[in-house]
Amino acid sequence: MKYIYGPVKSRRLGLSLGITLTPYKICSFNCVYCQLGKTINTTSERREYIPIQEIINELKLWLQNNILEAKDLNYITFSGSGEPTLNIKIDQLIAEIKKITVVPIAVITNASLLNLTVVRQALFAADLIVPSLDAAAPEIFTKIDRPKEDIKIEEIINGLIGLRKEFKGKIWLEVMLVKGINDDLGHIRKLKDIIDKINPDKIQLNSPVRTTAEENILAVDKKRLEKFKEILGEKCEII
Ligand code: SF4
Repeated sequence: MKYIYGPVKSRRLGLSLGITLTPYKICSFNCVYCQLGKTINTTSERREYIPIQEIINELKLWLQNNILEAKDLNYITFSGSGEPTLNIKIDQLIAEIKKITVVPIAVITNASLLNLTVVRQALFAADLIVPSLDAAAPEIFTKIDRPKEDIKIEEIINGLIGLRKEFKGKIWLEVMLVKGINDDLGHIRKLKDIIDKINPDKIQLNSPVRTTAEENILAVDKKRLEKFKEILGEKCEII
């Protein structure tokens, strides 16, 4: 299988079958904490990086060969080796998958393109969207996510607010916290104000535990995460 991986068991999504919609590290960000390594060319160009029909063919084959395992799946998850919304046919992929299985679809996205109406609309038929928001201010955004230079955090936030108003499924907002970069108490309070406006179904606090793109990327300790969880309120959990 070239585009399908797993199923992977996680606390967050249960048993999930992964699909990648881009080749390795086609991404609009170059996050310091990325587990995939560095992005060589950050891009926001939307293209059919991987032909949707090839993904569908693979998925059909997997479902035929794994009838029992397919019944246990909690999600088919778009994630993998780059930013899934960069694949311009993501809406068609969701529509085609819905024709062949009842397994819910989750989209993990860095949210960089959610300011575009066409991208938000492309995700409407998904069941769950897991967008990231690591920064409340441009300087922190640049430091942690290292986006393509024309991507602005204010536009991402507006995109997330718009998504919540338009999207009928669940939104679980992920915040990745890195020690010394975005874990200042003042920053967490600013994030809270923004997240209140976005109004996701869940807020998931994360901190890097595996190998990251840059060296010396440190996790925030558990006690501090617990404190942030308290600030962010009852919808917040540490993952
Ligand atoms: S958005 Fe995801 S894939 Fe892209 S650099 Fe960040 S962590 Fe890696």
